[in-house]
Amino acid sequence: MEKKLNIIIMGPPGAGKGTQSELIVKKFGVKHLSSGDMFREAISNKTPIGLEAKSYIDKGLLVPDSVTINLVKEAISKCGKQGYLLDGFPRTLIQAEALAEFTKESPITSVINIEADDSKLVERIVSRRVCPHCGASYNLISKKPLVDGICDNCHTKLVQRADDTEESLKTRLKAYHSMTQPLVEYYSKQGLLHSIDGLQNISVVFDEISKILEGK
Ligand code: AMP
Repeated sequence: MEKKLNIIIMGPPGAGKGTQSELIVKKFGVKHLSSGDMFREAISNKTPIGLEAKSYIDKGLLVPDSVTINLVKEAISKCGKQGYLLDGFPRTLIQAEALAEFTKESPITSVINIEADDSKLVERIVSRRVCPHCGASYNLISKKPLVDGICDNCHTKLVQRADDTEESLKTRLKAYHSMTQPLVEYYSKQGLLHSIDGLQNISVVFDEISKILEGK
């Protein structure tokens, strides 16, 4: 029987997590669990979690751990025997420790850490466009849609995320360096971490990820 893959993809905003996640999901058949997408869906459905999360997300701040942990825990519990790819979670040590606790039976198998220098991220973030329907992510410079402003997969009109501004990026990067970067050491100590240069071509980054996940 093939080994179940429970993957984490991490890296600063704009490093290419979303784009690589789409490719990983297609090739390895894991379920994409993006905490950011979960929050955006909750916001558009105006649920109580969505209303609470919006005030943080709009400012570029992290949503409190308790809210986030419960949301992701529930999503993982629905995966059953299917492996999954966690994108955007965990983002704090408290979240990582909670994750280890509720995945004791079937732990995380690898952590992909996409690295990119802060100075390169502004351009990537302000030129990012996303599909509000299927979550596909594009870039006006490096990954244009086939038809201007329209999603290749589901033909929905692309949008710019409300928090993809230079101002919000500054706050998000601060949160990344102070709260999330310590996880690099946390997972490195567990022998799970694989760091990749995210400034390479999309296909080169994906080749490296594939080799890691195939255990080559
Ligand atoms: P993302 O789509 O991963 O960039 O997430 C968008 C926003 O959602 C972040 O800037 C945070 O405000 C919030 N968010 C997503 N995941 C988490 C998390 N694991 N912990 C706290 N806040 C999160």
